[in-house]
Amino acid sequence: MGLDWTEAKQRQPRASAILARTIEKDRLAHAYLFEGSRGTGKMAIAELMAQVFLCRQRTGIEPCNECADCKRVTSGNHPDVHVIEAQGAVIKVDQIRGLKKEFSMRGMESGKKVYLVKDADRMNASAGNSLLKFLEEPDGEALAILTTTRPQGMLKTILSRVQVMSFQPLSPDVFVKSLVEHGVKEQDALLLSRMTANLDEALALTEEDWIAEARKKVIQLLDDLVTRPGYSLISLQDDWVPFFKEKPDVQLGIDLLILWYRDLLRLKVDQPEELVYVDQEDRLWKQAVNLTEERLANHLQAVVDTKRRIDANTSPQLAMEQMLIRLQEG
Ligand SMILES: [Zn+2]
Repeated sequence: MGLDWTEAKQRQPRASAILARTIEKDRLAHAYLFEGSRGTGKMAIAELMAQVFLCRQRTGIEPCNECADCKRVTSGNHPDVHVIEAQGAVIKVDQIRGLKKEFSMRGMESGKKVYLVKDADRMNASAGNSLLKFLEEPDGEALAILTTTRPQGMLKTILSRVQVMSFQPLSPDVFVKSLVEHGVKEQDALLLSRMTANLDEALALTEEDWIAEARKKVIQLLDDLVTRPGYSLISLQDDWVPFFKEKPDVQLGIDLLILWYRDLLRLKVDQPEELVYVDQEDRLWKQAVNLTEERLANHLQAVVDTKRRIDANTSPQLAMEQMLIRLQEG
């Protein structure tokens, strides 16, 4: 089953409210462009729109979810819903021509039709121009929904013929919920929600349990730093460096360290309910009581500086070693 408007509004309050109101007033545009980063619900809401448009038992703004039309839309095999997506890097003109042919031949079912063009910025110029002709001859019985993460890559002529709806990054709460629905543990989902607002990126970080392992490495390094500081450089060498190998990994590792120090600051200002390392409250408290706010701020600064130095091409290992030394001193 797909989304309903209540769920859609949780994900995309603004765009969903506008769309729901237009449906209520029966004033749907014939073409929309949903623009926003990955994982913001563009396709899910496009599917809901297709259901709304094709459902024959709709009362109000919600599709019935029970009729053949609704079921076929959510299972992805409605004969009057056509999805165009890039084959390889581009959407080719033949794909758009195929779509036109499809529509001229059809005439079955409800007489209504929906076309969804995913990553519409990937249309090459001829595909774009071909689609444009389609959009220029609006047919009251057709609904077009284009999606893109790069509206700046769209032909201006197309932009001027579609209603653009901006999809915002999900709120952290909704993002965490959505990750948990994808099978991510809550403790990992919380961390991920602070590292990226992009669902695909977040899910990629859960592959092979990467995030869970990374989390352990971070906790271990900081534990060593506190309980056996003389060992922390060895711990860095033996455990951290082999795990956070490439520069992007190193930067993610440092992000995780920063989140830890922010948690310590949260305890200092008495906001334990805001913790990101939710299951580490005891360990965090033990570290927080031994640090003044000033030292804590210095530590956080040391970590942030390290990230910047690595960005500026200092060797990650060297920068990390110097960071550990600073953390022991300050
Ligand atoms: Zn229905």
